[in-house]
Amino acid sequence: YADRFGGQLVLVTGAASGIGRATAFAFAEAGARIVAVDRDAEGATRTAEMSRLIGAPEAWGETVDVSDEQAMEKLAEKVATEYGVVDVLVNNAGIGLSGSFFDTTAEDWKKVLDVNLWGVIHGCRIFGKQMAERGQGGHIVNTASAAAYQPSRALPAYSTSKAAVLMLSECLRAELAGQGIGVSAICPGLVNTNITSTTHFAGTDAQEEKRLQKKTSRLYGLRNFPPEKVASAILRAVVKNQAVVPVTPEARGAHLMSR
Ligand code: NAD
Repeated sequence: YADRFGGQLVLVTGAASGIGRATAFAFAEAGARIVAVDRDAEGATRTAEMSRLIGAPEAWGETVDVSDEQAMEKLAEKVATEYGVVDVLVNNAGIGLSGSFFDTTAEDWKKVLDVNLWGVIHGCRIFGKQMAERGQGGHIVNTASAAAYQPSRALPAYSTSKAAVLMLSECLRAELAGQGIGVSAICPGLVNTNITSTTHFAGTDAQEEKRLQKKTSRLYGLRNFPPEKVASAILRAVVKNQAVVPVTPEARGAHLMSR
């Protein structure tokens, strides 16, 4: 997609690592200006620096917790004033949570829904509104997961958060279609990223959690599906205005089975 996004402003959340960072780089390669957003300040700045080296004419790192509505409002104001209206928004920031339903505490539920669902709601509401008011179209990509349509007793809370993101994306797609704003939900299966090292395993102590994180990380590594391939799928989803995009072979299989 060489220069396909030249002149466009692309904002990616969760851009300090994994799928978000790879997505910022892919849009940078395609000529876009990049706003790399993450709660990890150093990582966001680094992604912005590397995006410039790769081909982004301009790139900025912004430190924001996507679950914080006020912080997202402030970010949107700053972006609109200093960089312009966002053409492509990628709501990608997310955290993992594993554990049976009865091991998962109310606090665990709140944490995962705050980031994985409310983070996406804030992004869509605040930046989607700016896009709609400008009246020149745009695109919103939300990173859901194959877990959104594949029930698992190991991931009830995470899967519920992603199922909500998937449905929200489809509803918003219908609402915004008339205004030339596309909405896509990306649904990856296992992708080799850092997510396993920050996944909370409900009902375990710190030592057991570390062991399970390592074990899961090895499993993700075995699948060996790189975040760059998800980034390519995200760019394709924008170019082709695709609705729901399962990525990785097992995610595609599970998607077919769920229909
Ligand atoms: P990752 O841990 O490598 O990257 C996630 C990034 O999001 C990190 O940089 C983290 O700092 C940031 N982040 C987390 N909470 C945040 C918050 N409240 N505010 C701002 N930034 C925050 O993981 P990843 O695998 O690249 O995950 C990206 C997205 O992909 C997530 O939504 C995840 O649920 C989804 N996903 C991942 C997989 C997988 O197998 N890796 C599969 C399906 C879906």
